[in-house]
Amino acid sequence: MRTHPNETVRLDAGAITLGPHLPMASYHATERWHPERIGALALYCSDGRWGEAFDEFCHRHLQIPRYDRLALPGGPAWLAGYEEDAALLDAARSQLDFLVRVHELDQIVLISHYGCAWYGQRLGQPADECLPTQADDLRAAAATLRDWYPGLRVETFLAMRTHDWFSFHQVDVAGSSWSRVPSANATTRRGLIR
Ligand SMILES: [Zn+2]
Repeated sequence: MRTHPNETVRLDAGAITLGPHLPMASYHATERWHPERIGALALYCSDGRWGEAFDEFCHRHLQIPRYDRLALPGGPAWLAGYEEDAALLDAARSQLDFLVRVHELDQIVLISHYGCAWYGQRLGQPADECLPTQADDLRAAAATLRDWYPGLRVETFLAMRTHDWFSFHQVDVAGSSWSRVPSANATTRRGLIR
């Protein structure tokens, strides 16, 4: 049912007046609005079959409710600095620059997942054979973020699946400064190293 163009929608008595041109609500969420920002973002793959598990891990284990999401095919691969992906790196940089500044992020969580189609397509290998590259890319992506945003907390995880069970495993990047992306202090960001 749509409202008459001249009719004003009211959610409930005394509540917000939404204006004359909004259709009737199709659904009212049970979730309630929380205005405070959590200061954390998780960057992971778009694969929706993993999304609920990513949410559960971030909410229950990392304790970052209502975290910002950046879901991209391949996830952290976008930040790994491959020469052929320079455009992806630039796109991710502009999005993250905005979120770090405006959403005041102080923590970024990177999650790569087992059986990711991005890696399967790129490497032409079965899921198990892609894992070493995915771990390398997590380290490279973390180094990229540390270079772009010194002081920001970066954590890296590999999400695994055994049959229909999910598990999350921290990938150690402590002290790792290895990156395919030249430092921000370098004269160019285009000269990526494979
Ligand atoms: Zn994926």
